[in-house]
Amino acid sequence: MLKRTKIIATIGPSTKSKNSILKLYKQGMNVVRVNMSHASHQELEEIVKNVRFINKSLTCAIGIMVDTQGPEIRTAKNSEVLELVKGEQIILSSKKTKDMKKSLQIDNLKYVKGIKKNGRISLDNGSIDLKITRASKEKIYCDVLDNGQISGRKHVNFPGATISLPTITDKDKRDLKFAASLGVDFVALSFCRTKNDINDLKKTLKSFKKEIELFVKVEDQQGLSNLEDIVSSSDGIMVARGDLGIETDITNLPYTQRKMIKVAAKHGKKSIVATQLLESMIYNPHPTRAEVSDVANAVYEGADALMLSAETGIGQHPYACVAYLKDIAINAERSETLLFPSLTKQKTDWHILASTSVKLAEKINADAILVLTRSGFTANLISLAKPKLPVFAVTNDSDTHSRLSICSSVQNIHLRFQKNHEKTIESAFLEIKKNFNFKKNSKFVVISGVFSDIYADAIQVRFLN
Ligand code: PGA
Ligand code: MN
Repeated sequence: MLKRTKIIATIGPSTKSKNSILKLYKQGMNVVRVNMSHASHQELEEIVKNVRFINKSLTCAIGIMVDTQGPEIRTAKNSEVLELVKGEQIILSSKKTKDMKKSLQIDNLKYVKGIKKNGRISLDNGSIDLKITRASKEKIYCDVLDNGQISGRKHVNFPGATISLPTITDKDKRDLKFAASLGVDFVALSFCRTKNDINDLKKTLKSFKKEIELFVKVEDQQGLSNLEDIVSSSDGIMVARGDLGIETDITNLPYTQRKMIKVAAKHGKKSIVATQLLESMIYNPHPTRAEVSDVANAVYEGADALMLSAETGIGQHPYACVAYLKDIAINAERSETLLFPSLTKQKTDWHILASTSVKLAEKINADAILVLTRSGFTANLISLAKPKLPVFAVTNDSDTHSRLSICSSVQNIHLRFQKNHEKTIESAFLEIKKNFNFKKNSKFVVISGVFSDIYADAIQVRFLN
């Protein structure tokens, strides 16, 4: 059974070798993610080289996604470990202060605007909450709401406040340019808040020739408020549940996820569900029931891809995590989805052509769809119509080949096109027969967007011989 939902796995110190990446692929991973909050340029380059090396021996290439660090606020690097006790008071400031028994030094505090009395501050990815009792220009006085320990370089979130740092910092720019020079396939833009952020990203990448798909990470209230706007200027969105669960009401997170997937589908864009999908498997060999249900739910909602973070970055069972995601996805894919793709705005003849060929394939009980695609445009349209049957997207362009790794339902195949269209289709069928399990006389709907510049000149029903 071919899995339709794609799996993105974050690569970390324990999974960056060729051998590990190949093992992750064999379990069902389609795309590697490199998080620039942690990875150095040297590590990114090493991972890109390893993936490229492996891709040479694969039918379906692995794609590479680079995720920006973005405008993060953290505790100062040299902070000592501080034990916080519920009920006590603490000062947050940009400099060391002795005003109170306990204080926490925070980097970039001056960029936090709109701090309000009774507001909340969240430390270390939401593990310790503070309530603001008083705020001056340089110091924030808080009550501690949870027991816990805090040390240096830990995340600090200010839900409801505005962070006046640019979404793409100078470090992000350096990272993005380096990533683009290596020819990565996808960029995930952390804390995307406005359409301008995407324009800035496009400007940063403008001088690089290779087309890079842009995924916006919606991580706070401002990003959510501008959802339609930022979705429409991107190639897809990521439901960044980690930060969203802190920056907005965590009990509203499932609603937000569903809404985001729906809005993405409406605009004909891809959606990725990220963070804590199999969190317990960082230590445990098996997932919890709740985690399994959560993953299945994302599949029912029609997410194009599922993303693992710490599970494969630093976790103890990276391969089992991918294997579990794959099996949960395949099982869930048998069920009806929420049919959000039916809402997709059919902007051009091509959109209608693609969705019609998917309908045709389903109506005549075809076994698969074969799409011949140069830029990946037609294959993307077919994928976004969310067919229930496998799609073999055959391209003669190696960049398109790896970029199609993230398209749901799609098996991305690289093949040299020939002058004679019939020969190209024949060799595509040969390639499918060689690498996938199809019986003789399997029924295929063939759609080709490459033989003509204006219209598809071929939608055919053909049988595998
Ligand atoms: P991160 O983003 O892993 O880079 O923080 C994802 C999230 O916040 O869920
Ligand atoms: Mn985040």
